[in-house]
Amino acid sequence: MRLLSLLFPDRCPYCGQIISGKAFECEVCRSEIISLRLEMTIPSGNRCIAPFSYEGKVRNAILEYKFSSIKFNAESLARRLAEVLSDIAQDTDIVCWVPVSKKRRRERGFDQSELLAVKTARLLGINCACLLKKIKNNETQHRLDKEQRAANVKNVYAAAKPELIKDKRILLVDDICTTGNTLAECCRVLYSAGARSVLCAAAAITPTPDKKRNDNDDII
Ligand SMILES: [Zn+2]
Repeated sequence: MRLLSLLFPDRCPYCGQIISGKAFECEVCRSEIISLRLEMTIPSGNRCIAPFSYEGKVRNAILEYKFSSIKFNAESLARRLAEVLSDIAQDTDIVCWVPVSKKRRRERGFDQSELLAVKTARLLGINCACLLKKIKNNETQHRLDKEQRAANVKNVYAAAKPELIKDKRILLVDDICTTGNTLAECCRVLYSAGARSVLCAAAAITPTPDKKRNDNDDII
């Protein structure tokens, strides 16, 4: 284990600097990258809270996490997420996440939103469970316009454990929130299964959600 950490030392998710001990980000980034507590209302009317705007060093950290499978980046992202949720999520009964398809999970080796949700829930001291499953492989959202995005996520998710959803106040975690259509569809499924309330959270919210961007947002 020690040899491994010598060969592959942990690096700050935001600047790439080698960090040691129990740190999750370097001293400089810890003081310079401020958790913002951004909030947006997604198409279903639910709130989505995030510590970051999806740009710059944060965007790189999330892309690295998601596409290069640098799982260590989840440590800092989850901490930042838990930090901005600590008061608002106090009456949450259960945490869940927006799942990727089985195929994507196999290819990637993990589900980035699941790992983020599990770590965030642990920090908040709330139970976490898989409450949603992806039942249809849809096209990635980032190539679609606003109307197509809403249609593209329709009936893609289903309730995984209805008995854990009924009458519960749920915190739903995703990695990035752009238009919020994916989260909104997941909220619809959770409400159909009897959820009492759903609060959404993401590691980052894109800075201009209505403008079409060429980012890797909503890639699932
Ligand atoms: Zn750094």
